[in-house]
Amino acid sequence: MEKEKTVSQTVKLEVIGCAEFSKYKDLVNFLNSANAKANAFTNYCIIERFLYHNKRDHIGLDKNAFERFLYATGREKYPNVSSNMISQCIRHSHKEFKTFKRVDNCSLPTIKEKTSCLFIHNRDYRIEKISDSGKRVVLYTTIGSKNSKEIRKIKIDCKLDTYQQDIIKRLLSDEYKQGQAKLIVTSDMKKVSSKEDGKENVPIIKLLITYSFTPSNYEPIEGRVAGVDLGLKTPAVVGFSDSWKRWFHPRSHIQAFRDKMEARKRDLKSNNKKKLHNREGRGRKHKVKFSEHYGNIVSNFVQTENHTIARAIEEFITENRTESLVLEDLRNFSGTNVKYLRDWTYRDLQEKIAHKSMQKGIKVYFAKPFYTSKKCSFCGHMNDKFTFSFRVKNKMPYLHCEGCNKKVDADYNASRNLANTPMDELLTYDQWSAGKHLKKKATKQEKQEKQEKQEKQEKQEKQEKVKSQKDKTVENA
Ligand SMILES: [Zn+2]
Repeated sequence: MEKEKTVSQTVKLEVIGCAEFSKYKDLVNFLNSANAKANAFTNYCIIERFLYHNKRDHIGLDKNAFERFLYATGREKYPNVSSNMISQCIRHSHKEFKTFKRVDNCSLPTIKEKTSCLFIHNRDYRIEKISDSGKRVVLYTTIGSKNSKEIRKIKIDCKLDTYQQDIIKRLLSDEYKQGQAKLIVTSDMKKVSSKEDGKENVPIIKLLITYSFTPSNYEPIEGRVAGVDLGLKTPAVVGFSDSWKRWFHPRSHIQAFRDKMEARKRDLKSNNKKKLHNREGRGRKHKVKFSEHYGNIVSNFVQTENHTIARAIEEFITENRTESLVLEDLRNFSGTNVKYLRDWTYRDLQEKIAHKSMQKGIKVYFAKPFYTSKKCSFCGHMNDKFTFSFRVKNKMPYLHCEGCNKKVDADYNASRNLANTPMDELLTYDQWSAGKHLKKKATKQEKQEKQEKQEKQEKQEKQEKVKSQKDKTVENA
């Protein structure tokens, strides 16, 4: 029998509150101090390991006894830290010490973790329930130690969008298996108001839950690859490597919504100015509030819109029995394109498409969009004239290939190019989400050219030196 494959993924929830801490800031402080303790203990373990390694014979401890000794000191030194955390630190120190031993002439490593991170074992937390509105979830977890009086059980409140809600529901119904969780203090900030301190900026805390499941039976056509181009004319276009089928998402209502909101915001602003000048304050608060919440309204709209697009794409590619999916790696996007990608959260859309597809059992890859718009997907001709600025100037026309004289929709052409990207130019989803970049391999020819150039330069420099020396000797004479 074939072994069942399980897929594991993570969902990122934003923490909005914690019942045991009256102020959000206190939770941040608690996590930071727990992190500082963990770092200190890990560093202590590394030093102990070093001493033990050098004087093993004197001490007369065997390996297991030494590990037990580390654990016992940890519990004694940090009575408020959970046992899970102590073991985590010991494991961490072991890993660090191993790399230290491998490298010659290297000083003992010290851990300085900047982002505070608290690991929670999958047995140590429980998802309680989703609120009636479906926009919140409550979790119980244990942090701190059994032996101390400090907080042990805490109740965490998290925000949910429709997509995350779906995952949490599956976790609650045991369709998905819950794995380790992490509480992370991110570098992003948000504004929080309290009675004592007024408004202040605090870092956003995220709760990462890993979960695993077995994808349902899905039989793809071998070698069929779909490419998804997130485009200018339309938010998303899907094309196949071996088929003419395509799928478009109409942009019209997204743009219409955005235009409407922008117009309302502009109106209010100009109105406010006039009325303030005449010292009329009626309804001002309400108007300012709207302007503040404008961002929220748009981001909510984009979230649900992304969800719909992702679901439609997932349906389309499973219907056509796709084996794998290629998305664009849009990180480090710069220059003219930024104007068009602004506030439309492409990253969020990509994550949603990737997660939905992986849940079905489709492999997801990422490719750098190097020549996706210039290359003709039918004959492979490079249309160098067809640059981004050319597309913008001519209101994004069809690609008219100079090689085979075909006229293709530019976005559809790009999606086909993505689907036909060779394997060695692709990143897997895990590599992509871990922040890895694809290194472009230099070909043999390029390497040779580089060498020749260097040699030439060196020769020239030598000649110039000799010349200048000669000149000097002539002058001296
Ligand atoms: Zn062509």
